[in-house]
Amino acid sequence: EYRGMSKEQMLAIRTRACNPMTTKVTHYKKPVFVHQGHMQWLWDVDGRRYLDLFAGVATVSVGHCHPKVAAAAEQQAKRLWHTTSIYPHAPLHEYCEKLASHLPEPLQAVYLTNSGSEANDLAMLMARLHTGNFDVITLRGSYHGGGPQTLGLTSNAAYKYPIANGFGCTNTMCPDVFRGPWGGSHCRDSPVQTTRDCSCAPGHCVANEHYIGQLKETFDTSVPRRIAAFFGEPIQGVGGAVQYPNNYLKEAFQLVRERGGVCIADEVQTGFGRTGSHFWGFQGHDVMPDIVTMAKGIGNGFPMGAVVTTPEIAASFATGVHFNTFGGNPLACAIGSSVLDSIREDGTQQISLRVGTYLLTRLAQLRDKYEVVGDVRGKGLMIGVEMVKDKVSKEPLSPEAMNEIFEDIKDMGVLIGKGGVYGQTFRIKPPMCITKEDADFFVAVFDRSIHNYMDRR
Ligand code: PMP
Repeated sequence: EYRGMSKEQMLAIRTRACNPMTTKVTHYKKPVFVHQGHMQWLWDVDGRRYLDLFAGVATVSVGHCHPKVAAAAEQQAKRLWHTTSIYPHAPLHEYCEKLASHLPEPLQAVYLTNSGSEANDLAMLMARLHTGNFDVITLRGSYHGGGPQTLGLTSNAAYKYPIANGFGCTNTMCPDVFRGPWGGSHCRDSPVQTTRDCSCAPGHCVANEHYIGQLKETFDTSVPRRIAAFFGEPIQGVGGAVQYPNNYLKEAFQLVRERGGVCIADEVQTGFGRTGSHFWGFQGHDVMPDIVTMAKGIGNGFPMGAVVTTPEIAASFATGVHFNTFGGNPLACAIGSSVLDSIREDGTQQISLRVGTYLLTRLAQLRDKYEVVGDVRGKGLMIGVEMVKDKVSKEPLSPEAMNEIFEDIKDMGVLIGKGGVYGQTFRIKPPMCITKEDADFFVAVFDRSIHNYMDRR
């Protein structure tokens, strides 16, 4: 029992009063009743410990209840929880300056929000005002938010509702080199290669040409001549750590700019060092966005989000008044500031690179061992393992089979995520404080779970 509340009571309240649809995404047959956390660990109400490799969906960046961040939160909570940004207060200005210092020029104008959906909603509004255009393009399989505007950006049937959402949003083919019609082992920036053969000559990616061709076709067929924006996740998150051919975003950004649009990098999952090689995912694509949106890892689990843009776009946006009661709240800013300090002090990005690359390499060995492990991909601690019936047909492993393996992994003490348009991809996005030993433990557990699954067949 927790505070006098039994598991049965929690489940009953959950189905009736606690966003009743969440029972659909409880995932586990036997749910984990989470009670407490410390760094990469969670404990349930019975005191059982779990290695958390999903981090509240890629959100806990430096560690659950990170001591330094918790202390910063406590200190600020005792001084001032809330005032709004119409009053200058030190935590707000300290934070905006610190966040801006993590972005390259000219991305310096910071707008604070409370979630990723809100950040993308705001970015879409800015892009439309700045360009005077309306149409926005995103990649299929993407997730950019769940509100009526951002649902138009999101392109994953599981999250869609049959309402008029996000007028002017067009979703184009995702350049997925594993599941898409064109692909290859050298086409993406990952320490591990795909199982697909590559037909590309060095420096010339045929797959990329085809996928860019699809984007051009979208321009020719589905939008008016000029567009407002293109949204791209540097690596798809909910889509299942989908990576694009190396030059895709670079060429896409150029085409978008030729059509009057601005380029928006959705760093909600990929930011704050998660990809290891860079602080921001877009830097791994060698592109410069006009707007960057962020959330999740920004607050290590505290509800925060941000939009950062150029002075020119900020000037276009200043023609009206934009106000957000909680955005830039002192408690959020103190936490955000401490998260940025901890990322630097703990070497979080370096851990992502080192442990992530190690984990990817070990998982690739399981891919080579098992027919059902179709693809291992990602960068740093943004990892996807795509499960298939077999490597030739690449038919997605059934939801029932995915659930069996998923439950087994949990029963052995590790929490991971699921994603992909068909729910066929395991997602590994832990707090970025995990160790090589944690990675080894997970690989052993994953190996055993697939072994068990095969045994039952
Ligand atoms: N963008 C991306 C890439 C995301 O993964 C998500 C959340 N899964 C969002 C935006 C929306 O963020 P939030 O849930 O904070 O609204």
